[in-house]
Amino acid sequence: MYDVIIIGAGPAGYVSAIRLSQLGKKVAIIEKEYLGGTCTNKGCIPTKTLLSCAHLYDEIISKSNKFGININSVSYDLNKMDNYLTTVVTQTRKGIEYLIKKNKIDFINATAEIVDTNHVKTGNNILETKNIILAHGSEPAVFPPFNSIEGIWTSDDFFINLKDIPNSILIVGGGVIGVEFATFLASLGKKVYIVELMDHILPTEDLDVSQEIKRSLLRKGVEIYEKNKVINVEKDGKMYISKIEENGKITEINSEKILLAVGRKPVIPEDVKKIGIEINKGIKTDLNMRTNISNIYAIGDIRADIMLAHVAMYEGIVAAHNIAGEKKIMDYNAVPNVIFSNPEIATVGIKEKDANPEEVIVSKFPVSANARARTINEKNGFVKVIADKRSKKIIGISIVSQNATEMIMEGVLAVKYGMTTNQLTDAIHPHPTLSEIILEAVEGVEGKAIHI
Ligand code: NAD
Repeated sequence: MYDVIIIGAGPAGYVSAIRLSQLGKKVAIIEKEYLGGTCTNKGCIPTKTLLSCAHLYDEIISKSNKFGININSVSYDLNKMDNYLTTVVTQTRKGIEYLIKKNKIDFINATAEIVDTNHVKTGNNILETKNIILAHGSEPAVFPPFNSIEGIWTSDDFFINLKDIPNSILIVGGGVIGVEFATFLASLGKKVYIVELMDHILPTEDLDVSQEIKRSLLRKGVEIYEKNKVINVEKDGKMYISKIEENGKITEINSEKILLAVGRKPVIPEDVKKIGIEINKGIKTDLNMRTNISNIYAIGDIRADIMLAHVAMYEGIVAAHNIAGEKKIMDYNAVPNVIFSNPEIATVGIKEKDANPEEVIVSKFPVSANARARTINEKNGFVKVIADKRSKKIIGISIVSQNATEMIMEGVLAVKYGMTTNQLTDAIHPHPTLSEIILEAVEGVEGKAIHI
């Protein structure tokens, strides 16, 4: 008899398994594919590996001459890039395997089927358990007309076919995946078209954040069609001919490939649906991650709420503590969002577009006015701070900058623990660093930024 059986070994499932084991529980984790799930095998880790390759290539081309480094010719080798990608993914996966063993968790590499609320089947084996955690994850959303057209890629297909990446590609969806793949492909000199349905790419971000990235993509030759809808796609030999439409204006785009990046949907198999679990868009839970069935929990993308690996991991931790009899509540108030564009984007808390202008002060400080940014020859981007007018508490930060994804943690702490602008500016920031851009943006709330 297990204390807990976890279905799905993505970031939600494996982190929860380790924490449960640390809390003295007997745990099995069942995974039909690879340890690490989408994030390790076809998401966060492979994309960030490729983006690191593309970023270095970009930097060599754009900065070496200025930095006094002579490079006669620069080229890339997709086979080697693919080998590096495989090494990083395999190492990450093996690392998880080691941790699963170290924590004495039973790993079962099979498809799990829930028999009833205390029994899970794998092949001919029926396992008994006190609790079940659903961590089945998500898969790319595919809908008409794209589901009936041969050879359309989603992010899942990209890494399998890395050596055959096309010279031209139409990316449908200018969200996080669309922008990250566009950044990679355009940095390697491929022709990229983005079609986005909403008013601007990265529609959940503020317009100024989106525009900064749009400018950077345009500089790389990306063609961006916002407020456009793909109305027809035909295949002519090796090429896809797509018709897109904006208010009756039709544009034709010819590309070797189409990558669909229009969001993800939760994986909720029939056996899960049959046990009488409450489902909205995804599996419904309370803030203890418990479903309507008292010994069944759901964590990560299967909830179809905030589909981010770091949120999934934390939901796994919360579920583990509650199963172990402690009270732990999920707090979604200061969830960082990170986008590995170039420059990077990182945000936390409220966005300017969602804030009441009467109640907040918005302060922006440009990357170009920061000394460290000059030393690395970066001038694009800004930090925007949103503070409550009366209390001067920091309630939102958006960063568009090199290293934004690392810098955001200062903002996460400020928003989560309700820091005031004075508390943040009284903390001495190291010089010269990009973190001073945050300091100066916060000083700007009181009109007291030094370097502008
Ligand atoms: P997304 O929701 O971020 O973006 C989808 C985009 O497609 C949206 O901008 C939407 O307006 C657009 N769209 C929808 N239908 C369309 C249509 N018919 N034509 C044109 N545009 C259309 O989804 P995603 O980029 O596919 O990412 C999926 C999930 O994975 C997200 O939850 C994302 O947060 C997560 N993810 C996170 C990271 C990261 O944290 N860095 C990286 C990749 C993916």
